[in-house]
Amino acid sequence: EIRLRSLAKTFDTMRALDEVSLVAAPGRFVVLLGPSGCGKSTLLRVLAGLEAPTQGEVWINGRDATALPPAARGIAMVFQSYALFPHLSVAENIVFGLRARGVAKAERAARLTRTAGMMGLAGLLDRRPSQLSGGQQQRVALARAVVAEAPICLMDEPLSNLDAKLRTEMRREIRALQQRLGITMVYVTHDQAEAMSMADQVVLMRDGRIEQDATPAEFYARPATTFAASFIGTPP
Ligand code: ATP
Ligand code: MG
Repeated sequence: EIRLRSLAKTFDTMRALDEVSLVAAPGRFVVLLGPSGCGKSTLLRVLAGLEAPTQGEVWINGRDATALPPAARGIAMVFQSYALFPHLSVAENIVFGLRARGVAKAERAARLTRTAGMMGLAGLLDRRPSQLSGGQQQRVALARAVVAEAPICLMDEPLSNLDAKLRTEMRREIRALQQRLGITMVYVTHDQAEAMSMADQVVLMRDGRIEQDATPAEFYARPATTFAASFIGTPP
């Protein structure tokens, strides 16, 4: 369970986050949705421990995680720009972070086999990233997070570099993967169709604040503000 209490993050005079409180129950797929600059990436970075909040608290599984370093939070993250290491093979890219975290060699090999199988990458492990399609590269970036076997996964616009058809396919894959692993997901996008098709819970943000926090069905039936109504639109 993730619980954020009255989080604020200020850069100089810029309030990137303001009074953000939310709860993500275990095993849920939570989507942070909102226009460019509304604070989605900042919220994810504070949650991951990559930025310290100016104010407020981060609780993970009933523990105050506000001052915990990133590695101690049980969180894996896929970044907005997921740059793979071009000089490393797919296999080396996937286990890179495990080696840094001191996971033993035999355990790295076992997790690599398991993750590559699950992600459809088993036949591509010896290739370099430049020898993969965009969708395959994306899958390697996801595998890098999945291999950490963390109970919480954060993804920041992981599909932004893909074409429309592949995006739709990958939405389904990510959702299926999250369910199979039973992990808690916090997924950032500015695409409302993507949010509505993937989420158990949608957190709509605007200017560093939460505009509305509800299920997709509730958003369509009862948007709380005119901003929410116009951003969410009507059901497909
Ligand atoms: P996008 O959809 O474009 O990725 P976002 O919702 O992820 O946008 P953030 O990156 O969280 O938005 O930025 C929120 C606000 O905070 C923006 O106004 C941004 O300019 C500002 N900001 C973010 N990081 C910094 C920083 N390191 N220093 C100063 N201002 C920052
Ligand atoms: Mg962002």
